[in-house]
Amino acid sequence: MIDLRSDTLTKLTRRDVADLDYEKIGDDCYGEDRYVRELEAACCRLFGKEAALFMPSGTMSNQIGLRCLAARGREVITETGYHVNFFESSQVSALSGIVLHPFHSQDGVLRAADIRAAIASKARGSALYSLPDAVSLESSINTYGGLVYPHGEMVRVRGLCDETGMALYMDGARILNSCVSAGIDPDRYAAPADMLNFCFSKGLGAPFGSMLMGSRGHIEQARIFRKWYGGCLHQSGLMAGIALHRLRNWRAAVQADNELAGLLGAKLQEAVPLLHPVQTNMVYIRVPDAARFVDLLLAEGVRCTAWTGDTVRFVTSNLHGRADILRAAEAVCRATAAEGVQ
Ligand SMILES: *Cc1c(COP(=O)(O)O)cnc(C)c1O
Repeated sequence: MIDLRSDTLTKLTRRDVADLDYEKIGDDCYGEDRYVRELEAACCRLFGKEAALFMPSGTMSNQIGLRCLAARGREVITETGYHVNFFESSQVSALSGIVLHPFHSQDGVLRAADIRAAIASKARGSALYSLPDAVSLESSINTYGGLVYPHGEMVRVRGLCDETGMALYMDGARILNSCVSAGIDPDRYAAPADMLNFCFSKGLGAPFGSMLMGSRGHIEQARIFRKWYGGCLHQSGLMAGIALHRLRNWRAAVQADNELAGLLGAKLQEAVPLLHPVQTNMVYIRVPDAARFVDLLLAEGVRCTAWTGDTVRFVTSNLHGRADILRAAEAVCRATAAEGVQ
């Protein structure tokens, strides 16, 4: 079975565990887990941020990051398709009392001009009305085919945030895929963001964890929220140690995934139009009936995701080699021919 449903489905290897130094694992609630501290320091260096906090999941990272940057009853402007709105709108409202202001952008990139339009679309004359505290961006952009959020646009959004007193949050679950695709180092790419989330459990192939980064003040606040949410774990070095090993090889890992998706996209394009240009490790196509299409492929030994009723998502990861991708591409091309997709 070639499983292209998600890059979260990667496997733990024996070496991941064998390489761990159990002496370094301590109680992170006492600040005594050396793996967690090393991983947080490594992420500060890689992303050029002052402070970092190890989180159990990307969702908790996003929830706490947004809570640090926006007050109750205030707005966070984001794109309709970004994870923060697409999957997390209940949490943002129920846990933080934040009002999400989702904007439908033209191509998935929430630009400075879109954010200006979102601000202008409501009464903003005084604090009697809803006021935006923050903007939440995403890179790579999952629901738009893994698009890279353009760095130049992020710089423009930063300028708008400075002008209007808003903070800038980046949900960078797959930010390293974006950095490699854009040829920009993570510290420069992430520089405009006040706070940033990054996932170890996606392309790096670690089993667990995310990192929330930002200024020392924001991270101290986030540490309190993490405790409130029950996200302060004890011997979390077991997970942080594996993530640290995987992080050492980040560039080769995400580069390989991006290349495999590029290969899959090039092969599929011969049979079916792609929904988005392939920039990172995902390929989306449109079919008449996504659920039926997924079943057709399953019978051919290929697993993929029915993303919506008529779109299908393929994600590459370290589960795959070139031969798997070529075999999957042939199966998809046969299925599109059988379904009459053009
Ligand atoms: C996966 C993902 C998350 C959430 O991460 P979990 O660890 O699954 O909670 C958040 N944002 C984006 C863009 C993601 O892809």
